[in-house]
Amino acid sequence: MAENKLLLLVGVPENYRLGGPAFARLHSAHPRFEVRIVHDLAAFTQQVGEADAVIGSRPYLKACSAVLQPGSRLRWVQTTTAGVDQALTPELLAAEHVAITCIKGPPGPLMAEHAVLLMLALARHFPAYLKNQQQHIWRREGQEWPPLHGHTVAILGLGSSGGNLARVCKAGFGMRVLGLSRTARAHPHVDQPFDQSELLSMLPQADFVVLCLPNTPQTKGIIDAAALAAMKPGAYLVNVARGALIDEAALGAALRAGKIAGAGLDVTSEDPIPKESALWDLPNTIITPHVAVESVKLSEAVVDFWCDNVRHFAQGGALLGLVDRQAGY
Ligand code: NDP
Repeated sequence: MAENKLLLLVGVPENYRLGGPAFARLHSAHPRFEVRIVHDLAAFTQQVGEADAVIGSRPYLKACSAVLQPGSRLRWVQTTTAGVDQALTPELLAAEHVAITCIKGPPGPLMAEHAVLLMLALARHFPAYLKNQQQHIWRREGQEWPPLHGHTVAILGLGSSGGNLARVCKAGFGMRVLGLSRTARAHPHVDQPFDQSELLSMLPQADFVVLCLPNTPQTKGIIDAAALAAMKPGAYLVNVARGALIDEAALGAALRAGKIAGAGLDVTSEDPIPKESALWDLPNTIITPHVAVESVKLSEAVVDFWCDNVRHFAQGGALLGLVDRQAGY
């Protein structure tokens, strides 16, 4: 007997940044699935009751709230992001009969690349050289910087992004790599693993501290005044994950006091940063506008990830990127 047809409803705005021709591949992901890509939120809300599965960005996931009763059809929700802190509603988290998956894997190499860009740019005074070039000034800006080679990086979060960064730092730059995860465990590119209770003993050892953590109740504000005080004087802090991980007032104080040498921030607590924010003028701080994973390559990889999950769902296999509701990532 033929198996029942399934409906995947995809809700994203028109010209969504992960869109383009790659999206069309979803239609042929699995013969059991009919795929409807809907941009209009009202149309999405009207159709979501018929869906077995949803891929959606934030407003569309919110619209799923109406169809989360145990008797309803929806069984699987896939986010369009790696972080779920802003994507998931309390209703969705409470509906335990609905599997929630996020994108785990594809953004990792890009996150690592951006973290390295910020580490090198900070350590080698790159903003000063760009300013000097604009004014045709040939001047060495000091050689007090720690080269990456032979120095120590502490990577907070050893998942997809942190794991890729560990590989690049170890294999590419010969760095000593310290890695923090919830439970310490061996990793091929980490010299010394730490668990979540050991942050303050890890930080003083590092010349670079890079945040690759999800934003959860446990990690929110993890880089606070105490963590900044524990960092090695003259160390650099880089955040490519979520702005909420850093107490920005404490960071400002540490930078102004010269306690740490600089910061590279791709993410901030307010996103976008308002024009009047004090963050813009922090000393030795490089700000990029949440672009760590901006790349057409990501669209391709994300759609491949979604297609794999569509096949797993249709065949009753294990879904990739399953969110642990208790842990919050
Ligand atoms: P993963 O889920 O692959 O890895 C998360 C890591 O953080 C794991 O190693 C996990 O430990 C660790 N961790 C979680 N909670 C704690 C804790 N309390 N103490 C110590 N370690 C902890 O995530 P990704 O690497 O894919 O992404 C990380 C975050 O980066 C995302 O959640 C997202 O918010 C953000 N992000 C930002 C992007 C951007 O454009 N700026 C793009 C993509 C992601 P364990 O291994 O023990 O589970």
